[in-house]
Amino acid sequence: MKENELKTMRSSFKLMEERRIDLMQDPRIIKLQERVKNIRKESVKKIPAMVETARENFKNNGMEFLYAEDSHQALDLIYDLIKNEKIVAKSKSNTLNELGLSDYLKKKKIHLVETDLGDRIIQLKVDDNKPSHPIGPALHLKVDKIAEIISESLKVKVKADPRAIMELVRSNVLEELKSCKIGITGANSVAAEDGSLIMVHNEGNISLLSLMDTHIVVVGVDKLVETIEDAISVVKLETAYATGTALPSYINVISGPSKTADIEKKLLEDMYGARKVVVIMLDNGRQEALEECLWCIGCGSCIVSCPVYNVLGNEFGYRGYLGGRGVAMSRFLQDEETSISSGLYMCTLCGLCTLECPVKTPTNEIMEKIRKESKNTGFSPKEHLKIFKSIKKKGSPF
Ligand code: SF4
Repeated sequence: MKENELKTMRSSFKLMEERRIDLMQDPRIIKLQERVKNIRKESVKKIPAMVETARENFKNNGMEFLYAEDSHQALDLIYDLIKNEKIVAKSKSNTLNELGLSDYLKKKKIHLVETDLGDRIIQLKVDDNKPSHPIGPALHLKVDKIAEIISESLKVKVKADPRAIMELVRSNVLEELKSCKIGITGANSVAAEDGSLIMVHNEGNISLLSLMDTHIVVVGVDKLVETIEDAISVVKLETAYATGTALPSYINVISGPSKTADIEKKLLEDMYGARKVVVIMLDNGRQEALEECLWCIGCGSCIVSCPVYNVLGNEFGYRGYLGGRGVAMSRFLQDEETSISSGLYMCTLCGLCTLECPVKTPTNEIMEKIRKESKNTGFSPKEHLKIFKSIKKKGSPF
């Protein structure tokens, strides 16, 4: 990230902190935090059983359920569903970023429309289009830079005014959506016993995608909880920590394709919403990960306080999984080498992220464990090994 982008990101983070300070002291949020911490800790212990429960209940609810062991399988499954399309639309999703869906579709010559405003800005930016925050991907860009990006790519001059930019992007996306029949989204939480997917958003874009002929939902096994009540608790806390508001504008609960029984109680499918809902549940190394790594509810709070992230920006992290927790996850989603290149040894182990985390993910401890393991398997950075050998041989690092 460029210095001016880092500066803008830091001032956006400051605003976020100020906005949520009162809510964080609210006794209802503190109570909710305790509840969600327990839900997450208990849920990650039961992933295999919950996958089976979810499989059965999604099918009972009339949805297709597919399981992907890794990212290649997930991309193949998605491609199989969309191969006859020229254009598909998606919402903001770290899981879809993890798969590298955007680059994959480019290679397959299928046009992808990002519907989230921040993601659309990042998509239209020619260089370095990595997000800077999981909820606000374009937080590091100033309004005049955004106006420049939008004007250049859409070939319409727009002034550096947030509303003007929003309106132009909205009409451009809506125009593109007219030719889309497939919407792809993630999910913020999944209720295994109810066979329900819970999605939060402020823009209304996920609602639009869920009204297309086919709605594909790609979600990691770590998002599973037992009941819909648990799932709603998780997304409420995520929203509070991510945005400083008690609730998002929309919480979509999807428990089946569109249907009606308004005529003589006879069941008719395919009213307004998706005719087909397909859930692709993704493992991709999650079940091999340290349990604590999977407690995360994706609020992004840890990167706002992280001293390393505030200096380096999105260089410290892996794809859409930013900061220390993202680096830790990259060890399991990819491999040791990726965790090193994502910043395993950049972390200061200060533990501020754990203090700020609503579920108290011990990222610094996880980092230490992964470092130890990487040293044992000879995956430490070359410079560290050189210093280590020199100390052993000469008693000096030089
Ligand atoms: S590790 Fe904690 S603070 Fe960071 S994104 Fe996950 S839940 Fe939020």
